[in-house]
Amino acid sequence: MKSNLLVVSNRGPFTIEGEMGNLKYRPAVSGLVSAVLPAVKKVGGIWLAWAGRLTEKTLEVQTVIKDDFNFVEVLLSREELKGYYEGYSNGVLWPLCHLMPEKVVLSEENYRIYKKVNQKFAQRAGTLLKPGTLLWIHDYHLALMPYFVRQKYSWQRIAFFWHIPFPPVEIFTIQPWAQEILRGLLGADLIGFHTEDYRENFLRSVERVLKIPVNYEWGTVYYNGREIRVKAVPIGIEPKNFQKDVPKIEEIEQDLRGQIIFLGVERLDYTKGLKEKILGFARFLEKNPEYLGKVILLQVAVPTRENIAAYRNYAKEVLEEVQKVNERFGHSSWQPIKILTRNYSQDELIYLYRRADTLIITSLEDGLNLVAKEFIASRQEPGVVILSNRTGVARQFGVALKVNPYSPEEIAGQIKTSLEMSLEEKEKMFAKLKEQVLLKNNEWWLDNFLGKELMLSVAPGKYYR
Ligand code: UDP
Repeated sequence: MKSNLLVVSNRGPFTIEGEMGNLKYRPAVSGLVSAVLPAVKKVGGIWLAWAGRLTEKTLEVQTVIKDDFNFVEVLLSREELKGYYEGYSNGVLWPLCHLMPEKVVLSEENYRIYKKVNQKFAQRAGTLLKPGTLLWIHDYHLALMPYFVRQKYSWQRIAFFWHIPFPPVEIFTIQPWAQEILRGLLGADLIGFHTEDYRENFLRSVERVLKIPVNYEWGTVYYNGREIRVKAVPIGIEPKNFQKDVPKIEEIEQDLRGQIIFLGVERLDYTKGLKEKILGFARFLEKNPEYLGKVILLQVAVPTRENIAAYRNYAKEVLEEVQKVNERFGHSSWQPIKILTRNYSQDELIYLYRRADTLIITSLEDGLNLVAKEFIASRQEPGVVILSNRTGVARQFGVALKVNPYSPEEIAGQIKTSLEMSLEEKEKMFAKLKEQVLLKNNEWWLDNFLGKELMLSVAPGKYYR
């Protein structure tokens, strides 16, 4: 083992399926895994997470020993999953942080279970701590975990990265548990967000809700005799993972032939603005009939969180919108929108990223958006990026064709612009984007968030820079 790093997240790099004696380890996909896995592989250590298995099925926890890191499983009961994951994490924190309070379903019971599960992760992590371990906790599912670990192991070094947006204090405090969540996070020594806006929102919440003085410029909070650093460091990807040769996906080629391809890659999540994208695309077709039969919106829409009603309804509505637009503009030999509702592997996505002409992202609110970075890293040929200005990545990148996702006119306008740009303009814009993706890569993120010293397992406090 290269280092004393202990990473903890809700989902890890694998899901475990099958029966004892014939267990299958499947690589799991998510933005978090795509970004944290290269970091863990580089630094080494242990990754503790839920691997999709329920205590109703098994009580035997699996450990996977790999060359570069070890994986340790946490088991959850059906009731825990419902209250902690579907109930509070994805029914309260997710919609609040994405500025959609109308989607919030408050429940004391769910919050109680969330707390219990955070305690369970903390206890489990405690058994894996050694002198010098850096505990690195990830995301909104585990906001109370730093508090529980700190209670028991007061000298433990704890870093926390929040992967989604952090909302303004007025929104965050719609839930009655805002104080506890903030205190939970302040159990860490170092807290990271993707953008300055999120960092500022967090600090303001701490100041207003907990009445603790904060230093916005330095990003420091003094709490219970400890100095906590709060940083804005957007996640980067590992470019070389997207520069390999990949096989063709034959089955979609027939629909794409001769078309100018606008590509979307999203989970079927109401924050991703899929309905708005479809509306904008329809508006473009309506205003520019000369493009009928010449363009296609190829939309990967991966089913997600299907146990939550808001997600099931959203998926249905998106599919209905697609059908409406295809009926309105399409004919027997051409359909303007092709929607692919399954999970694609990284190799398949690389193929699609290269095959497309333009990537179109219309998220209504999005912590960062890794797909944009992956599209840019995958390509040699210049590609255009139409990008919602409400994504973390739009705040990071100065150049791209930006849109307000709530405006079908703007989306239609930027689709038109992308079609009219000269090759030279495209090359210039793409080169700037690529430079930033290559420079602000995964290693940059790791170094700037945790500090280079991490590799040396230094004394508490030393990794602040
Ligand atoms: N992804 C994937 N297969 C798919 C769709 C997406 O592996 O079919 C991956 C994609 O490569 C990216 C991540 O899922 O790394 C999505 O991250 P993003 O930040 O764009 O959004 P999130 O889903 O985390 O909100």
